[in-house]
Amino acid sequence: MQVCRNCRRFTDTSPCPFCKSTNLSSSWKGLVIILDANSEIAKILNVTEPGKYALFVS
Ligand SMILES: [Zn+2]
Repeated sequence: MQVCRNCRRFTDTSPCPFCKSTNLSSSWKGLVIILDANSEIAKILNVTEPGKYALFVS
């Protein structure tokens, strides 16, 4: 499973189906599932949509 460096979402396909970026990484740490885009953690991660995100991508 790879993580898009642009939006930090998990994706199995390139380009990223969410933002169309081809800048993917297989080196990531921490999986966060955002259920509520208005939650504090969503604000901290700066995400605006529910989904599966990586905390750190290198
Ligand atoms: Zn993306």
